[in-house]
Amino acid sequence: MSLPTTAPVPVHSPSDSAAARATGLSKVYGEGETRVIALDSVSLEFGRGRFTAIMGPSGSGKSTLMHCMAGLDSVSAGSARIGDTELSSLNDRQLTRLRRDSIGFVFQAFNLLPTLTALENITLPMAIAGRRPDQRWLDTVVGTVGLSGRLNHRPAQLSGGQQQRVAVARALASRPEIIFADEPTGNLDSRSGSEVLGFLRDSVRELGRTVVMVTHDPAAAAYADRVVFVADGRLTDELIAPTAESVLDRMRQFDAKGRTS
Ligand code: ADP
Repeated sequence: MSLPTTAPVPVHSPSDSAAARATGLSKVYGEGETRVIALDSVSLEFGRGRFTAIMGPSGSGKSTLMHCMAGLDSVSAGSARIGDTELSSLNDRQLTRLRRDSIGFVFQAFNLLPTLTALENITLPMAIAGRRPDQRWLDTVVGTVGLSGRLNHRPAQLSGGQQQRVAVARALASRPEIIFADEPTGNLDSRSGSEVLGFLRDSVRELGRTVVMVTHDPAAAAYADRVVFVADGRLTDELIAPTAESVLDRMRQFDAKGRTS
């Protein structure tokens, strides 16, 4: 009996599997006395189908990194790519289209429209873009974030956690290449926060999405596959398969170093 022949497994270099990539990315705000180097030559990849958390003290550059990667802010030097697209090569219209089609956003504030139902909020960005949602995908997303019974509710009829789940479903609805979440649990109690983080993780593990999340909470970061640490506009460290304890430990080490240096 001959063994079945299998096609050779394609070898992917790490960069092939990057949903987004920063290379030598710098961002400077202001001039002269008010000049601030918010990002100082940052290079990193956000792996496709991975959940990455960005952590660091207040003012370390986390939001700037996210905004530059998401095309919400221009870069001063270096490059920011989503998939194979170099953001600085795009004009405003192309950038708007890329943000709409390839990027999902979840913010601390839920940013839902109060007069629309949950379902209408979820599909609004696609309606504005003149695109019909893929019904099977939409059903999967709504099922994953546990909103099936609440699609006709308006935001005021939903708890904070449910509203944020609507926002997560809205971010997922167009099957974006990557989802950026900025302190997504900042306005939630810990139980609702855990639920939302669980859904973000499910969207990676079960739906194959890519999520990048800024957080200051070690328990939230523990939902990610990887944590990158930022300080003074630079990457300082990373943890793979983090736990709340290992993240907290690493933060304590930074604090201790900060006090002795
Ligand atoms: P984090 O998200 O980690 O709190 P930020 O990315 O918001 O940090 O800020 C990094 C640095 O850049 C800080 O020193 C902040 O004051 C500065 N900064 C951020 N945005 C602006 C801006 N629009 N104008 C001037 N300085 C800014």
